[in-house]
Amino acid sequence: MAEEKFLRWQVGDVRITRVAELGGAPFPSTFMFPAATTELVQRHAWLRPHFAHADGRLFGSIHSFVIESGKRRIIVDTCVGNDKPRAIKAWNLLQGPFLADLALAGFPAETVDTVLCTHLHVDHVGWNTRLVNGKWMPTFPKARYLFGRKEWEHWASEAAKHNDGDVMGDSVKPILDAGLAELVDMDHTLTPEVRLEPTPGHTPGHVSVRISSRGEHAVITGDLMHHPLQCAEPDLANNFDVDAAAARRTRREFLARYSNRPVLILGTHFAPPTGGWLVDAERAWRFALTPPANAGEP
Ligand SMILES: [Zn+2]
Repeated sequence: MAEEKFLRWQVGDVRITRVAELGGAPFPSTFMFPAATTELVQRHAWLRPHFAHADGRLFGSIHSFVIESGKRRIIVDTCVGNDKPRAIKAWNLLQGPFLADLALAGFPAETVDTVLCTHLHVDHVGWNTRLVNGKWMPTFPKARYLFGRKEWEHWASEAAKHNDGDVMGDSVKPILDAGLAELVDMDHTLTPEVRLEPTPGHTPGHVSVRISSRGEHAVITGDLMHHPLQCAEPDLANNFDVDAAAARRTRREFLARYSNRPVLILGTHFAPPTGGWLVDAERAWRFALTPPANAGEP
């Protein structure tokens, strides 16, 4: 289990490390996808054993990726966080060792220079802040926090409501108040090796993260997909998609764009081994743990 906490990938000169907060236990498929019956999950045998239990329940994960590019240390998505009142029982007032694990992986919080949230949902912004003497303080005091401008505008509007606690109040606004936030475009370039790709639908300003170095390539999905099952069933909507139709369109475009290519796909909620490749399969796609044999251009 310890080594699964720190899966690492080398992409050219860039190193990517996965630090997990929650995962391990299987959960009912309908928690994530209302239309995913046991039979539907069991139909896709390649999901077992890593991504689905034989009984049809699914495995998932909540983790961060730390990207080391040049001298930069970029943490992508910050999980659920500790001490936060949340509606989902497993996430409520969490007391987990995430920060200690992050340090153990080689990244004490004060050494992180950039925080990037693919979107502003509850399980992607939690460790932006931590509770210090009753106040929500930035966890990464020396970092610039990058939020999508469009994403911020959506969640800051009157109409949009998080249905799981005061996510903006405890995990986003304190960063703006501390002057550490930077609102960026959906195709923002972070370093010569790391840039954002717009993948809207799950949320209006949702982005994925593209990494390219020395002819090697990877992409961090964010929540455009929540589970490898959606490679085979790309129309399967998630309970938390803001615009399910746009999310489907984005997912199909992404699957078509990256299938049979030498591009490592790192799933933001994919259980270990978390990284793999997209390959064409009957009527749709599949998530493979080895690169496609006759991959085209990246
Ligand atoms: Zn998520």
